[in-house]
Amino acid sequence: MMKLYYDLHLHSCLSPCGDNDMTPNNIVNMSLLKELDVIALSDHNSAENIEAVRKVAAGTSLLVIPAIEVCTMEEVHILCLFYEFEACLKFGRYLYDLLPDIQNQPAIFGDQLIMDENDEITGHLDKLLINAANLSIDRLLKLLPDYGGFAIPAHVDKSSYSIIANLGFIPEDYHFPCIEVKNPPYECGFAGRVITDSDAHYLEHISERERFLEVPEKSIRAVIDTLKGLASIQ
Ligand SMILES: [Zn+2]
Ligand SMILES: [Zn+2]
Repeated sequence: MMKLYYDLHLHSCLSPCGDNDMTPNNIVNMSLLKELDVIALSDHNSAENIEAVRKVAAGTSLLVIPAIEVCTMEEVHILCLFYEFEACLKFGRYLYDLLPDIQNQPAIFGDQLIMDENDEITGHLDKLLINAANLSIDRLLKLLPDYGGFAIPAHVDKSSYSIIANLGFIPEDYHFPCIEVKNPPYECGFAGRVITDSDAHYLEHISERERFLEVPEKSIRAVIDTLKGLASIQ
Protein backbone atom coordinates (compact mmCIF):
# COMPACT_ATOMS: atom_id res chain seq x y z
CA MET A 1 0.00 0.00 0.00
CA MET A 2 1.09 3.56 -0.63
CA LYS A 3 -0.03 6.96 0.61
CA LEU A 4 -1.35 9.47 -1.89
CA TYR A 5 -1.81 13.03 -0.69
CA TYR A 6 -4.95 14.31 -2.33
CA ASP A 7 -7.22 17.20 -3.13
CA LEU A 8 -10.19 15.87 -5.10
CA HIS A 9 -12.29 19.01 -5.43
CA LEU A 10 -10.84 21.90 -7.44
CA HIS A 11 -12.42 24.44 -9.75
CA SER A 12 -10.82 25.94 -12.84
CA CYS A 13 -11.49 29.17 -14.71
CA LEU A 14 -14.38 27.31 -16.37
CA SER A 15 -16.45 27.65 -13.20
CA PRO A 16 -17.84 31.19 -13.11
CA CYS A 17 -16.87 31.48 -9.44
CA GLY A 18 -13.41 30.03 -10.18
CA ASP A 19 -10.66 32.64 -10.46
CA ASN A 20 -9.34 33.22 -13.97
CA ASP A 21 -5.88 32.38 -12.60
CA MET A 22 -7.10 28.80 -12.11
CA THR A 23 -5.63 27.87 -15.48
CA PRO A 24 -4.59 24.31 -16.36
CA ASN A 25 -0.88 25.10 -15.91
CA ASN A 26 -1.36 27.05 -12.68
CA ILE A 27 -3.51 24.31 -11.14
CA VAL A 28 -1.00 21.58 -11.99
CA ASN A 29 2.03 23.63 -10.95
CA MET A 30 0.51 24.75 -7.66
CA SER A 31 -0.52 21.17 -6.88
CA LEU A 32 3.04 20.00 -7.58
CA LEU A 33 4.43 22.84 -5.49
CA LYS A 34 2.22 21.68 -2.63
CA GLU A 35 3.56 18.16 -3.18
CA LEU A 36 0.14 16.66 -3.79
CA ASP A 37 0.06 13.24 -5.47
CA VAL A 38 -3.47 13.28 -6.84
CA ILE A 39 -6.02 15.95 -7.69
CA ALA A 40 -9.45 15.96 -9.30
CA LEU A 41 -10.61 18.85 -11.43
CA SER A 42 -14.31 19.21 -10.62
CA ASP A 43 -15.90 22.20 -12.30
CA HIS A 44 -19.58 22.94 -11.88
CA ASN A 45 -21.66 20.87 -14.30
CA SER A 46 -18.98 20.66 -17.00
CA ALA A 47 -15.70 18.93 -17.75
CA GLU A 48 -14.47 21.08 -20.63
CA ASN A 49 -11.11 21.86 -18.99
CA ILE A 50 -10.17 18.36 -17.87
CA GLU A 51 -8.42 17.47 -21.10
CA ALA A 52 -6.09 20.47 -20.82
CA VAL A 53 -5.26 19.66 -17.19
CA ARG A 54 -4.62 16.03 -18.11
CA LYS A 55 -2.20 17.12 -20.86
CA VAL A 56 -0.35 19.54 -18.58
CA ALA A 57 0.05 16.91 -15.87
CA ALA A 58 1.21 14.20 -18.28
CA GLY A 59 4.85 13.41 -17.62
CA THR A 60 4.75 14.92 -14.10
CA SER A 61 4.23 13.01 -10.85
CA LEU A 62 0.71 14.39 -10.48
CA LEU A 63 -2.22 12.02 -11.02
CA VAL A 64 -5.34 13.78 -12.33
CA ILE A 65 -8.81 12.31 -11.90
CA PRO A 66 -11.53 13.59 -14.24
CA ALA A 67 -14.48 14.92 -12.25
CA ILE A 68 -17.57 17.12 -12.27
CA GLU A 69 -19.36 18.80 -9.38
CA VAL A 70 -22.96 18.15 -10.36
CA CYS A 71 -25.70 20.44 -9.06
CA THR A 72 -28.81 18.26 -8.97
CA MET A 73 -32.39 19.51 -9.21
CA GLU A 74 -32.54 19.34 -5.39
CA GLU A 75 -29.72 21.95 -5.47
CA VAL A 76 -27.40 19.39 -3.91
CA HIS A 77 -23.76 19.34 -4.99
CA ILE A 78 -22.44 15.87 -5.77
CA LEU A 79 -18.77 15.37 -6.55
CA CYS A 80 -18.55 12.82 -9.37
CA LEU A 81 -15.24 11.11 -10.11
CA PHE A 82 -14.73 9.13 -13.31
CA TYR A 83 -12.41 6.29 -14.31
CA GLU A 84 -12.04 7.65 -17.85
CA PHE A 85 -11.53 11.18 -19.24
CA GLU A 86 -13.59 10.50 -22.33
CA ALA A 87 -16.61 9.29 -20.34
CA CYS A 88 -16.36 12.27 -17.97
CA LEU A 89 -16.36 14.69 -20.89
CA LYS A 90 -19.30 12.87 -22.42
CA PHE A 91 -21.27 12.99 -19.19
CA GLY A 92 -20.44 16.68 -18.83
CA ARG A 93 -21.90 17.42 -22.25
CA TYR A 94 -25.02 15.43 -21.45
CA LEU A 95 -25.32 17.39 -18.20
CA TYR A 96 -24.85 20.74 -19.93
CA ASP A 97 -27.93 19.99 -22.04
CA LEU A 98 -29.88 19.48 -18.80
CA LEU A 99 -29.01 22.96 -17.52
CA PRO A 100 -31.68 25.64 -17.83
CA ASP A 101 -31.32 27.96 -20.77
CA ILE A 102 -30.05 30.83 -18.65
CA GLN A 103 -27.02 32.66 -20.01
CA ASN A 104 -24.02 33.45 -17.89
CA GLN A 105 -23.44 37.13 -17.23
CA PRO A 106 -19.67 37.28 -16.85
CA ALA A 107 -19.75 40.74 -15.24
CA ILE A 108 -21.89 39.35 -12.42
CA PHE A 109 -20.97 35.67 -12.10
CA GLY A 110 -17.49 35.54 -13.68
CA ASP A 111 -16.08 34.10 -16.89
CA GLN A 112 -16.54 30.46 -17.95
CA LEU A 113 -13.30 29.97 -19.86
CA ILE A 114 -12.22 26.88 -21.75
CA MET A 115 -8.44 26.65 -22.10
CA ASP A 116 -5.94 24.43 -23.86
CA GLU A 117 -2.77 22.98 -22.37
CA ASN A 118 -0.95 26.26 -23.06
CA ASP A 119 -3.50 28.24 -21.03
CA GLU A 120 -4.77 29.79 -24.26
CA ILE A 121 -8.49 30.56 -24.19
CA THR A 122 -10.14 28.39 -26.80
CA GLY A 123 -13.76 29.17 -25.95
CA HIS A 124 -16.31 29.70 -23.24
CA LEU A 125 -19.62 28.23 -22.17
CA ASP A 126 -22.76 30.33 -22.48
CA LYS A 127 -25.17 28.68 -20.06
CA LEU A 128 -24.63 29.58 -16.41
CA LEU A 129 -22.90 26.52 -14.96
CA ILE A 130 -23.83 27.09 -11.32
CA ASN A 131 -27.52 26.46 -11.94
CA ALA A 132 -29.19 23.18 -11.00
CA ALA A 133 -29.40 20.62 -13.80
CA ASN A 134 -32.71 18.99 -14.59
CA LEU A 135 -31.48 15.78 -13.00
CA SER A 136 -32.45 14.31 -9.62
CA ILE A 137 -29.98 12.65 -7.26
CA ASP A 138 -31.86 9.43 -7.92
CA ARG A 139 -31.43 9.69 -11.66
CA LEU A 140 -27.80 10.78 -11.35
CA LEU A 141 -26.99 7.69 -9.28
CA LYS A 142 -28.70 5.47 -11.84
CA LEU A 143 -26.85 7.07 -14.77
CA LEU A 144 -23.34 7.33 -13.36
CA PRO A 145 -22.38 3.64 -13.60
CA ASP A 146 -22.95 3.82 -17.38
CA TYR A 147 -20.21 6.44 -17.52
CA GLY A 148 -17.89 4.82 -14.98
CA GLY A 149 -18.70 7.62 -12.57
CA PHE A 150 -18.75 7.57 -8.78
CA ALA A 151 -20.79 9.94 -6.60
CA ILE A 152 -19.63 11.59 -3.36
CA PRO A 153 -21.99 14.06 -1.65
CA ALA A 154 -19.94 17.29 -1.57
CA HIS A 155 -19.26 19.47 1.49
CA VAL A 156 -22.13 17.88 3.46
CA ASP A 157 -21.47 20.23 6.38
CA LYS A 158 -22.14 23.37 4.33
CA SER A 159 -25.37 25.20 5.04
CA SER A 160 -26.29 25.41 1.35
CA TYR A 161 -25.99 23.18 -1.70
CA SER A 162 -25.35 20.13 0.45
CA ILE A 163 -27.33 16.93 0.86
CA ILE A 164 -27.77 17.44 4.60
CA ALA A 165 -28.75 21.10 4.27
CA ASN A 166 -31.28 20.40 1.54
CA LEU A 167 -32.64 16.93 2.37
CA GLY A 168 -31.99 17.03 6.10
CA PHE A 169 -30.05 13.76 6.16
CA ILE A 170 -28.14 11.31 3.96
CA PRO A 171 -30.73 8.83 2.67
CA GLU A 172 -29.49 5.29 3.31
CA ASP A 173 -31.10 4.06 0.09
CA TYR A 174 -28.40 5.85 -1.86
CA HIS A 175 -25.68 3.69 -0.27
CA PHE A 176 -22.97 6.34 -0.54
CA PRO A 177 -19.70 4.70 0.48
CA CYS A 178 -18.03 8.09 0.91
CA ILE A 179 -18.91 11.69 1.75
CA GLU A 180 -16.96 14.94 1.68
CA VAL A 181 -16.81 17.17 4.73
CA LYS A 182 -15.39 20.67 4.43
CA ASN A 183 -14.48 21.26 8.07
CA PRO A 184 -13.82 18.00 9.92
CA PRO A 185 -14.63 16.61 12.35
CA TYR A 186 -18.33 16.64 11.53
CA GLU A 187 -20.73 14.40 13.39
CA CYS A 188 -23.56 13.12 11.21
CA GLY A 189 -23.56 9.44 12.06
CA PHE A 190 -22.16 8.47 8.67
CA ALA A 191 -20.40 5.12 8.88
CA GLY A 192 -18.44 5.18 5.61
CA ARG A 193 -15.32 7.00 4.47
CA VAL A 194 -15.08 10.74 4.96
CA ILE A 195 -12.77 12.85 2.82
CA THR A 196 -11.91 16.53 2.98
CA ASP A 197 -10.95 18.59 -0.04
CA SER A 198 -10.24 22.26 -0.55
CA ASP A 199 -13.05 23.10 -3.01
CA ALA A 200 -10.51 25.70 -4.16
CA HIS A 201 -11.66 28.45 -6.48
CA TYR A 202 -8.35 30.30 -6.04
CA LEU A 203 -4.83 28.94 -6.40
CA GLU A 204 -3.80 29.72 -2.85
CA HIS A 205 -6.65 27.63 -1.48
CA ILE A 206 -5.47 24.35 -2.99
CA SER A 207 -4.80 21.87 -0.17
CA GLU A 208 -1.44 21.49 1.48
CA ARG A 209 0.13 18.01 1.70
CA GLU A 210 -2.05 17.11 4.67
CA ARG A 211 -4.57 14.41 3.86
CA PHE A 212 -3.84 11.08 2.24
CA LEU A 213 -5.51 7.94 0.99
CA GLU A 214 -3.87 4.54 1.32
CA VAL A 215 -4.11 2.85 -2.04
CA PRO A 216 -2.62 -0.29 -3.61
CA GLU A 217 -1.18 1.69 -6.54
CA LYS A 218 -1.07 5.18 -8.01
CA SER A 219 -3.87 5.05 -10.54
CA ILE A 220 -7.29 6.59 -11.10
CA ARG A 221 -8.91 3.20 -10.65
CA ALA A 222 -7.11 2.51 -7.38
CA VAL A 223 -8.14 5.89 -5.93
CA ILE A 224 -11.79 5.57 -6.91
CA ASP A 225 -12.00 1.92 -5.84
CA THR A 226 -10.45 2.81 -2.50
CA LEU A 227 -13.09 5.51 -2.00
CA LYS A 228 -15.72 2.95 -2.96
CA GLY A 229 -14.27 0.58 -0.38
CA LEU A 230 -13.36 -1.95 -3.06
CA ALA A 231 -9.60 -1.65 -3.39
CA SER A 232 -8.73 -4.17 -0.69
CA ILE A 233 -10.59 -6.99 -2.41
CA GLN A 234 -8.85 -6.57 -5.77
ZN1 LIG B 1 -20.14 22.86 -4.14
ZN1 LIG C 1 -16.98 23.06 -5.57
